[in-house]
Amino acid sequence: MNGRADVVIIGGGPAGLNAALVLGRARKSVIVIDDLQPRNIVTRETHGFLTRDGASPREFRMAAHEELAAYPSVSRSSDTASAVTGKNGAFEITTASGAVYRGKKLLFAVGKKDLPLSVNGLAEVYGTSAFVCPYCDGWELRDKKLVLIVTGAHALHLAKVISGWTKDYSICTNGPAELTSEERWELARHGVPVHEAAIETIVSEEGMVRQVILADGARLPCEGIFFAPKLTRGSDLPQALGCEMNEAGSVLTDDYGKTNIPGVFSAGDAASEKYQAIAAAASGALTAIMINGELNGETWDESENVE
Ligand SMILES: Cc1cc2nc3c(=O)[nH]c(=O)nc-3n(C[C@H](O)[C@H](O)[C@H](O)COP(=O)(O)OP(=O)(O)OC[C@H]3O[C@@H](n4cnc5c(N)ncnc54)[C@H](O)[C@@H]3O)c2cc1C
Repeated sequence: MNGRADVVIIGGGPAGLNAALVLGRARKSVIVIDDLQPRNIVTRETHGFLTRDGASPREFRMAAHEELAAYPSVSRSSDTASAVTGKNGAFEITTASGAVYRGKKLLFAVGKKDLPLSVNGLAEVYGTSAFVCPYCDGWELRDKKLVLIVTGAHALHLAKVISGWTKDYSICTNGPAELTSEERWELARHGVPVHEAAIETIVSEEGMVRQVILADGARLPCEGIFFAPKLTRGSDLPQALGCEMNEAGSVLTDDYGKTNIPGVFSAGDAASEKYQAIAAAASGALTAIMINGELNGETWDESENVE
């Protein structure tokens, strides 16, 4: 399948799909290329998105696809964008299956990816009883016995955040804690145990964590885990096209998704470190408004009557 559209969107998570909705409603032709590998694929439920609280990522996506079906100028392709060339007004996107799509504007809504998890047994519980964001999954783990796997200044930060959901938690730094003496003192004053021994393994049953076993022989009974994953960019394409990036692997944009490359935009997790579905959807919507404004402005200028 090949195609031509006003806007090609790479990535069909909340950011890309909400952008497609706004652009479809603005009567623009849109192709969304998505290979269905969002970062939250491991979870059963997405929380904190009003009207969708508790929906699985799949249910969320299906509902979005149903709503988009009402707009005939929006089409979707389940494929991986593998190369992008061109310039403002004439971008060309080649996919893994060999399709070629052409678009006047390009939106990268490619999200971010987790780097492989280095803790033994963590992959088995990730998304069922081990999570990365207390605002997403803290409610489900309220008042439970938790382990936070985290080091450095982030450990104190996460401890303060988690204390709103449970008072029964300890920190495992899985090696040197990298805490200042002030941070250690503050955690001790609040009665938070800090274990620096390496984590040998996480024991679980059907995705539910039971124990964290440390190399010094300690066994920490536990009902849930929060940890700080290491993230990387969702796709190399923005950088390959010349988009400026920050150290966190986010595409640098203005408040409306505009990158340093004319005609190229980015939204959602790909362009921020907010990591909330509703924030990603909102940035997709605002970026779509900016893209539509540019397209209308260009058409307006071209259609001027010169006497
Ligand atoms: C474990 C976990 C649980 C979470 N729980 C919650 C929660 O409860 N509530 C909440 O608000 N947020 C939650 N989040 C965060 C939320 O999932 C993200 O903030 C949100 O999905 C970001 O949306 P996005 O559209 O920017 O990116 P994504 O949803 O990651 O979508 C990006 C899409 O781009 C596609 N893609 C990338 N590269 C290409 C390419 N080259 N070609 C084609 N397609 C491509 C990917 O396959 C993916 O489908 C959670 C995250 C994780 C990791």
